[in-house]
Formats: sequence, C-alpha cells, structure tokens
Amino acid sequence: MNLTDYIKDIPDFPKAGIVFKDISPLLANAAATDKAIELLAMGLHNFQATKVVGIESRGFLLGILLAQHLKLGFVPVRKPGKLPGEIISQNYQLEYGEDALEIQANSIQPGDLVIIHDDVLATGGTAEAACKLVEKCGGVVVQCNFLMELDFLEGRTKIEKYQLHSLIHY
Ligand code: AMP
Repeated sequence: MNLTDYIKDIPDFPKAGIVFKDISPLLANAAATDKAIELLAMGLHNFQATKVVGIESRGFLLGILLAQHLKLGFVPVRKPGKLPGEIISQNYQLEYGEDALEIQANSIQPGDLVIIHDDVLATGGTAEAACKLVEKCGGVVVQCNFLMELDFLEGRTKIEKYQLHSLIHY
C-alpha cells in the first residue's frame, strides 16, 4: 500500500497558489489510516514517550490515534480562545502577520517526554511554536512527526534541534 495514493492535491485552496494536501481519502480508508499509524509508531526511536501533542486541527486526527496506539495520553494544542482554564500561549510568524497557539497549563508536567504530531510540516512555524509550548510547561520534545513534509519550504530548519520524522516527502 502506498500512502501517497490517499493524499489528494487540491490546487488553490484555501487561497491561490497553495496546493492543499487533503488527508480525507486516507481517513476514509481504515487500512490506510492503520498503516499510517503503524509507520509513525515505527519511526519512533528508543525513547519512552509519555504524551502525544497534536496540533489543531488535522494534527488531532492521527495524533489521537497514534497516542492510543502507543497507550499514551493525548494533549491538544489549539488556536487562541478555544481551550478553557489556565493557558500558556506562544506567538509565531506567518507569511503575512502573526498567529498564536495555546496549551492548557497543567496538561504537560515537568519531565514529560512528548511526541509532537501534525499532518503537514510546511514552513515549520506551527511545529516550532508547539515545541516551545511543551517546553514552557517543562516538557521535553523527543520527536516531531508528520504525515507529510513539504521539503521545498525547508520547515525542518526551524525545528532541527529536535528528532524529526515524516512519512511522506514532497
Ligand atoms: P507551517 O507552520 O507553515 O509549517 O504550516 C503547517 C500547518 O499548516 C499545519 O498545521 C498544516 O495542517 C497546515 N498546512 C500548511 N501547508 C499545508 C498544505 N499545503 N496542505 C495542507 N495543510 C497545510
């Protein structure tokens, strides 16, 4: 089975010039989803993680399945204003302007060993902000993993100090 068969390119979405990588066909196929989780788990090295952090919103989908597969708890990193209670925030740069991500303050404990998951690594700003949030909580990022990496955007340079694993490279 080739996972790329289950990723659909949608040109000019959500705006002109962007080729959106749609994971809906993968999610609609149980065997392909299973395969993706198995390969993400196989890409982990010999460390004992304690949490999986998924990034809103498509990072929640395989992130939570990966966490269940590894028998670990799942923690969401969300866009501003979505999470209740005490929040830690991290701003990051977009192509034009700035955005932020948030995590619940007590969701990661000092010493937690964290796998960060998202569907796509593009310019790397989102993943870098998620790593910083984990570290602000006292956690240690043991790996960032992605279903896909858009190599030409060189996002990995922003998170090169972390272990990084992507199943598919474009
Ligand atoms: P970046 O911060 O540039 O690495 O962007 C990563 C975030 O944007 C991820 O949460 C992805 O879900 C989303 N993203 C960026 N580029 C794409 C793309 N071409 N197709 C689908 N999602 C994308």
